[in-house]
Amino acid sequence: MSFNYDYSLMEQLFEGVYVVDTQRKIIFWNQGSERITGYTSEEVVNKYCHNNLLQHVDETGKMLCFHGCPLHHTIETGKMNQAHVFLRHKEGYRVPVSVKSLPLYDENEVIVGAIEVFTDERFQRDIISENETLKDEIMKDPLTQIANRRFFEFSLKKKIEQFKIFNKNFGVLMFDIDHFKNVNDTFGHTVGDEILKLVAKSLVSNIKSNDVISRWGGEEFVGLFEVNEEKDLFSIAERLRSIVSKTSFKELGNEEIKVTISIGGTIMRPLSHAKSLIEKADQGLYHSKHNGRNMTTIV
Ligand code: GH3
Ligand code: MG
Ligand code: MG
Repeated sequence: MSFNYDYSLMEQLFEGVYVVDTQRKIIFWNQGSERITGYTSEEVVNKYCHNNLLQHVDETGKMLCFHGCPLHHTIETGKMNQAHVFLRHKEGYRVPVSVKSLPLYDENEVIVGAIEVFTDERFQRDIISENETLKDEIMKDPLTQIANRRFFEFSLKKKIEQFKIFNKNFGVLMFDIDHFKNVNDTFGHTVGDEILKLVAKSLVSNIKSNDVISRWGGEEFVGLFEVNEEKDLFSIAERLRSIVSKTSFKELGNEEIKVTISIGGTIMRPLSHAKSLIEKADQGLYHSKHNGRNMTTIV
């Protein structure tokens, strides 16, 4: 049996990596393993895995060392094995880890042991939740909690690519609340903010999952919709316009506050690009504003 491996790379890995022979005697233990388990290399090398040092258990608390040990399975079958287990830190507490075990062969292709790579899931969870927070900060509008302009621009770019590659068509709509300055002037900025949030919620609650509505800024919103024809884009716009106009956004004493929105839109065409789509939708919006408001114009 030979273990003439170069362990220097494994030493650098952030994950825990250890190597056992066919008797599950620990031959190598990297710094990642040390960090995750609290045991140093001196404490574990030459000990047997089944001395139950790490006491792997599954979610139900079943000890895996004699029944269900991923390393044992790999050595027996030569197959890679993957599992979520809990190991015991030197200080006694349980650490959730995902483990992957791989067989080790000698030059004659005989299994001489196995490698276990394990990752601290607490750390992975931190990274996932940090990523989620970061994504929220980058892509969400803080007031309305819907997507922001940056997310819209990102989605628009993606939709344009999909149009070019898969011929998947879409349209852009811009929405602007009518006479919103009056709402603020009459009811105050705080009520104005609340109404903005409710309009945003009404809009995003009434679209399909592949469509997008973002806050463009101020009392303006912008959306992307998977449609083939102008008339389909127009019906979506009219449906959203009607929902908003029929909603009573707040009651103050005996007064119901209602708002309406004006909409402009355009459909993606072969020569369109991000800027031209926004400009056209804006032209439509301008037309709606100057022709009575609470209406839709597709250009
Ligand atoms: P129009 O029908 O022509 O769109 O009239 P308007 O009053 O809505 O348009 P204008 O652009 O003159 O004013 C937009 C107003 O929207 C002014 C501003 O006070 C209000 N607004 C923009 N952002 C916010 C916000 O975050 N909160 C609140 N409460 N009001 C906002
Ligand atoms: Mg405006
Ligand atoms: Mg407005």
